[in-house]
Amino acid sequence: MGSQTILVTGAAGFLGSHLCDVLLAEGYTVLGVDNLATGKMANLEHLSTDSRFRFMEQDICLGFDPGKVDYVFNLASPASPVDYTRLGIETLQVGSAGTLNTLELARKYGAGYLHASTSECYGDPEVHPQVETYWGNVNPIGPRSVYDEAKRFSEAAVMAYHRYHGVNTHLVRIFNTYGPRLQANDGRVISNFMIQALRGEPLTIYGDGSQTRSFCYVSDLIDGIVRLSRSEEHLPVNIGNPTEWTIAECAKEVLAVTGSRSEIAYKALPQDDPTRRRPDITRAQTLLGWEPKIQLREGLERSLEYFRLSVSVTA
Ligand code: NAD
Ligand code: UDP
Repeated sequence: MGSQTILVTGAAGFLGSHLCDVLLAEGYTVLGVDNLATGKMANLEHLSTDSRFRFMEQDICLGFDPGKVDYVFNLASPASPVDYTRLGIETLQVGSAGTLNTLELARKYGAGYLHASTSECYGDPEVHPQVETYWGNVNPIGPRSVYDEAKRFSEAAVMAYHRYHGVNTHLVRIFNTYGPRLQANDGRVISNFMIQALRGEPLTIYGDGSQTRSFCYVSDLIDGIVRLSRSEEHLPVNIGNPTEWTIAECAKEVLAVTGSRSEIAYKALPQDDPTRRRPDITRAQTLLGWEPKIQLREGLERSLEYFRLSVSVTA
């Protein structure tokens, strides 16, 4: 195992950096690739003295060849609605050219491949909870389409490399995940609420707060995708925490954990914001023996120190 080299794209991001930590702890050699579009070197700083970790600053949309690798985890992509709206064309590029380039590397070196797909493939779902067999309700031309359609194209590309070239591919549909290293300024609901609460500013609820999300703690998510990478499963698998919260309830949890007395400020609901989202995790349970262990309250408590530090750094 120690001699196996794993390529992680998006390594300087939230999930990528946690994945690198877990793979290094298991004894692998890890090559992290990132163009720092939304990620930060600070997320990898603690690995700078680890001889089994190497970092390459690289846009995966441009052809690159890092030499032989045994496995590719493709996590590179802007991920928050604020980031992918700001970086719309780049998001389309990384979810098309970037995915094809990394699939080509896996084919060339006979490496396994896991692609980080998303619950956004289901769009604003009419089927609830979302099962992997549901094809989704996606607006192909709306503001979220740069992300949703790039991710759906990527899924098609991954399945094609499996079908046409026999690449050992895996597709994970990730549901909202949070924890330390979630970018403090990328506009996602947990980071916004935590930072606002700790600063004593109003928590910004978009719409009336009745829309739902299901929040997965980062260590559970990484455990799920590592298990999937070692499985024989090639069809998409949902990984997420099936406990569903309204955004208003989520705000209350954040206030309780931070002990903040912040008020609530209601803002306009962004266009095409999904009204509900909850994973059916039956496939992950039966195929991978996986289920999440950490519920929202505990996960927020575990993230508190990180967000406190973020607030003091930006104060
Ligand atoms: P993130 O923004 O923290 O990390 C993404 C990383 O990809 C960043 O470091 C960024 O610089 C890098 N990147 C972007 N474009 C690149 C390019 N062209 N070349 C090289 N690197 C590039 O986001 P995250 O939350 O860690 O998300 C990681 C992956 O998981 C993404 O593919 C995202 O779509 C997927 N995902 C995340 C969630 C979640 O809740 N966190 C949910 C669903 C899917
Ligand atoms: N949201 C909110 N206030 C914020 C940020 C987000 O009410 O400050 C809402 C957003 O409208 C959505 C949900 O929280 O309904 C989750 O948003 P996020 O950007 O985290 O991810 P999404 O699941 O929409 O991709």
